[in-house]
Amino acid sequence: MGVNNIGVGSVGGARRVSPGLQCLVCGDTSSGKHYGILACNGCSGFFKRSVRRKLIYRCQAGTGACVVDKAHRNQCQACRLKKCIQMGMNKDGRSMTSLPFIYNDENLMPLAFI
Ligand SMILES: [Zn+2]
Ligand SMILES: [Zn+2]
Repeated sequence: MGVNNIGVGSVGGARRVSPGLQCLVCGDTSSGKHYGILACNGCSGFFKRSVRRKLIYRCQAGTGACVVDKAHRNQCQACRLKKCIQMGMNKDGRSMTSLPFIYNDENLMPLAFI
Protein backbone atom coordinates (compact mmCIF):
# COMPACT_ATOMS: atom_id res chain seq x y z
CA MET A 1 0.00 0.00 0.00
CA GLY A 2 1.64 3.13 -1.05
CA VAL A 3 0.24 6.48 -0.81
CA ASN A 4 0.93 8.15 -3.99
CA ASN A 5 1.04 11.70 -3.17
CA ILE A 6 1.83 13.30 -6.39
CA GLY A 7 1.63 16.92 -5.88
CA VAL A 8 0.62 19.26 -8.53
CA GLY A 9 3.84 19.94 -10.19
CA SER A 10 3.16 23.43 -11.20
CA VAL A 11 5.90 25.69 -10.13
CA GLY A 12 4.15 28.72 -8.89
CA GLY A 13 6.45 31.29 -10.21
CA ALA A 14 5.62 34.45 -8.40
CA ARG A 15 5.43 36.47 -11.46
CA ARG A 16 4.75 40.06 -10.77
CA VAL A 17 3.34 42.28 -13.34
CA SER A 18 6.39 44.06 -14.45
CA PRO A 19 6.06 47.64 -13.35
CA GLY A 20 8.24 48.71 -16.18
CA LEU A 21 9.14 52.15 -15.04
CA GLN A 22 9.52 53.22 -11.47
CA CYS A 23 9.70 56.60 -9.90
CA LEU A 24 13.25 57.17 -8.74
CA VAL A 25 12.00 59.20 -5.83
CA CYS A 26 9.27 57.10 -4.26
CA GLY A 27 9.18 53.88 -6.26
CA ASP A 28 5.65 54.36 -7.51
CA THR A 29 4.80 53.51 -11.07
CA SER A 30 6.23 56.05 -13.41
CA SER A 31 4.73 57.01 -16.70
CA GLY A 32 8.06 58.20 -17.97
CA LYS A 33 10.53 60.96 -17.53
CA HIS A 34 9.57 64.12 -15.76
CA TYR A 35 12.05 66.91 -15.24
CA GLY A 36 14.86 64.75 -16.42
CA ILE A 37 14.30 61.56 -14.40
CA LEU A 38 11.82 58.74 -14.15
CA ALA A 39 9.18 59.97 -11.77
CA CYS A 40 5.57 59.39 -10.96
CA ASN A 41 2.90 61.98 -11.51
CA GLY A 42 2.78 62.68 -7.81
CA CYS A 43 6.45 63.49 -7.48
CA SER A 44 6.66 65.46 -10.70
CA GLY A 45 3.64 67.51 -9.69
CA PHE A 46 5.07 68.03 -6.25
CA PHE A 47 8.40 69.11 -7.71
CA LYS A 48 6.72 71.48 -10.13
CA ARG A 49 4.68 73.12 -7.39
CA SER A 50 7.66 73.43 -5.13
CA VAL A 51 9.87 75.01 -7.75
CA ARG A 52 7.27 77.34 -9.15
CA ARG A 53 6.22 78.66 -5.80
CA LYS A 54 9.73 78.50 -4.45
CA LEU A 55 8.43 76.66 -1.46
CA ILE A 56 10.74 75.96 1.38
CA TYR A 57 9.94 72.97 3.51
CA ARG A 58 11.13 71.96 6.86
CA CYS A 59 11.92 68.36 7.63
CA GLN A 60 9.27 66.89 9.90
CA ALA A 61 11.76 64.86 11.81
CA GLY A 62 14.46 67.49 11.79
CA THR A 63 17.00 65.01 10.54
CA GLY A 64 16.66 65.47 6.81
CA ALA A 65 16.79 61.72 6.46
CA CYS A 66 13.16 60.68 6.22
CA VAL A 67 12.13 57.66 4.21
CA VAL A 68 10.69 58.71 0.90
CA ASP A 69 8.65 55.97 -0.67
CA LYS A 70 5.18 55.47 -1.93
CA ALA A 71 3.72 55.17 1.54
CA HIS A 72 5.70 57.92 3.20
CA ARG A 73 6.24 60.42 0.45
CA ASN A 74 3.63 62.80 1.79
CA GLN A 75 4.92 62.78 5.31
CA CYS A 76 7.92 64.99 4.82
CA GLN A 77 7.95 67.38 1.92
CA ALA A 78 11.42 68.60 2.71
CA CYS A 79 12.94 65.18 2.31
CA ARG A 80 10.80 64.42 -0.72
CA LEU A 81 12.00 67.53 -2.50
CA LYS A 82 15.55 66.83 -1.45
CA LYS A 83 15.33 63.37 -2.92
CA CYS A 84 13.81 64.71 -6.12
CA ILE A 85 16.83 66.95 -6.53
CA GLN A 86 19.26 64.27 -5.46
CA MET A 87 17.90 61.90 -8.04
CA GLY A 88 18.51 64.49 -10.70
CA MET A 89 15.26 66.36 -11.14
CA ASN A 90 15.75 69.76 -12.59
CA LYS A 91 13.24 72.32 -13.60
CA ASP A 92 14.59 72.63 -17.10
CA GLY A 93 13.43 69.10 -17.69
CA ARG A 94 16.63 67.99 -19.27
CA SER A 95 18.68 65.05 -18.27
CA MET A 96 21.84 66.09 -16.65
CA THR A 97 24.79 65.43 -18.84
CA SER A 98 27.30 65.52 -16.06
CA LEU A 99 26.40 63.48 -13.06
CA PRO A 100 27.65 64.56 -9.69
CA PHE A 101 28.83 61.06 -9.00
CA ILE A 102 31.71 59.92 -11.11
CA TYR A 103 33.00 56.44 -10.69
CA ASN A 104 36.64 56.34 -10.16
CA ASP A 105 38.26 53.36 -11.78
CA GLU A 106 40.71 53.04 -8.97
CA ASN A 107 37.86 52.21 -6.65
CA LEU A 108 36.75 49.37 -8.85
CA MET A 109 39.91 47.31 -8.47
CA PRO A 110 39.07 43.65 -7.97
CA LEU A 111 39.79 42.34 -4.53
CA ALA A 112 42.70 39.98 -4.27
CA PHE A 113 41.87 36.72 -2.58
CA ILE A 114 44.51 34.48 -1.09
ZN1 LIG B 1 7.22 59.33 -7.04
ZN1 LIG C 1 12.31 64.82 6.54
